[in-house]
Amino acid sequence: MKALSLPNFEELLESIQDGFVVVDKTLRYVYLNKKAEEIIGIPIEKLLGKRFTDKFPDHNLNLVDLLKIVEQTWIERKNATLEIYFKPQKRWYYLIIYPFKDMYSVIFRDITAEKQIRDDLQSSKKQLDLLFRNISDGVVIQDPTGKFVYVNNAAVEMSKFPNEKSMLSLTDVGLPGHYFLLDEEGIALSWEDAPGRQVLFGGKESAEKVLCVVDKETREEIWLDVKSAKIFVSPDKVPHVMSIFHNVTVLKKLERQKDNFLSLVSHELKTPLTSMKAYLDILQKQSKHIHDAKTATIISRVKSDTDKLIELVHSLLDISRIQEGKLQIVKHKFSLASLLKEVTEDIQPITHHPIQVNYSKTSSVNADRDKVAQVLVNLLTNAIKYSPEEKPIILQAKANEHEVVISVKDFGTGISQKEQKKIFNRFYQSARYATFPGLGLGLYISSEIVRMHNGKIWVKSTEGKGSTFYFSLPYHKSK
Ligand code: ADP
Repeated sequence: MKALSLPNFEELLESIQDGFVVVDKTLRYVYLNKKAEEIIGIPIEKLLGKRFTDKFPDHNLNLVDLLKIVEQTWIERKNATLEIYFKPQKRWYYLIIYPFKDMYSVIFRDITAEKQIRDDLQSSKKQLDLLFRNISDGVVIQDPTGKFVYVNNAAVEMSKFPNEKSMLSLTDVGLPGHYFLLDEEGIALSWEDAPGRQVLFGGKESAEKVLCVVDKETREEIWLDVKSAKIFVSPDKVPHVMSIFHNVTVLKKLERQKDNFLSLVSHELKTPLTSMKAYLDILQKQSKHIHDAKTATIISRVKSDTDKLIELVHSLLDISRIQEGKLQIVKHKFSLASLLKEVTEDIQPITHHPIQVNYSKTSSVNADRDKVAQVLVNLLTNAIKYSPEEKPIILQAKANEHEVVISVKDFGTGISQKEQKKIFNRFYQSARYATFPGLGLGLYISSEIVRMHNGKIWVKSTEGKGSTFYFSLPYHKSK
């Protein structure tokens, strides 16, 4: 085999991007490459035969220690590495010292910037640890087997382990013996569905859930907003799971109090409002005989406001029924086509938007007719509310083998991607439309009604172009 021809040895040393010097046993320069000259900042001819201390009398290095290290390399015939701070230049250097015949060769490199980054990292790591340790949210990190490898103070407190050490030696397998979980609807939640385990063993990159942890013995409840995500831990970048637990117990209790209050108020309001409406009907009839136009206008306004109030109370009652699991669905077979026609005929007179109805012949569905009408009215009134008057609204029904999908399309404001995730939540209203009347209940109630029919509700929307809301109703399976 032919040997590779190497360039001249000195040429090679000159080409390297690190400082390279050779010093004799008394630490006097014998050789310096160009880079070394550049780093030291003094011409080579002024350095050769001199010690570096001759040129920097105010240096900060401990020469006795340095000499010991250097001599050691010679005794052991082994290189030494060190990082030094060189005060005259205010710079950090990384040095590798090799014993070479009866001399030493030294390779050195300016690592000031690198050192700065390392120090900053180290200090942010310390700050982060301090922060994690003392925040009121629980923070834990689990290794791939589920063993806790990091827990902060709040996590230890929430877990009721006596201390950090006792928690660190364990996995979470013992927890189901002491606690059970509930989801937001108060339904039992399997530990496998908890966010941490979903990421650990369920193949998810991240997961989050609000859940209630109930102590089996004391029945004490803690509501937690849990967020878990995969993280990669150095040095081997092994996937671990980090979970953050935000205690929302107080918030949940307040929410429950608010629900109870709303339920109570709406129940109490229902009867007087219904009788008010009946009396107003009578008054309206009577006012026709007295031919007093002003009174008639006032009565008609009060009546329309009472209708709005009754509608609101009905929504609030629906909400409490949903909360208490008492919303009743009474299913029977009916023609969807006739319902679509009926709802459109009811709504068209109160809007200038042309409502276009478009449905293929759909077979009858088995559902709660009034409740499906409620969903349709809600979607249509939203389409009216959030789109300009002259734009059409398209109501469509399309059937396939298993279900019928009903859609309401408008050409209005549209909904941002971010908001699309929230609009089916209770009391969600876009801040952008603070001027539109409403409470943010319609879509929540609609989604619950659709869910109770084993159907789905969803939206496709582009901001500024419009929205299409869809809901599906599975077919009645006649046997
Ligand atoms: P409300 O209309 O009373 O505020 P909803 O639950 O019906 O309550 O709707 C919730 C939110 O969803 C609305 O506040 C609005 O921001 C958004 N939204 C619903 N329908 C539409 C639509 N067709 N176009 C644009 N935004 C809509």
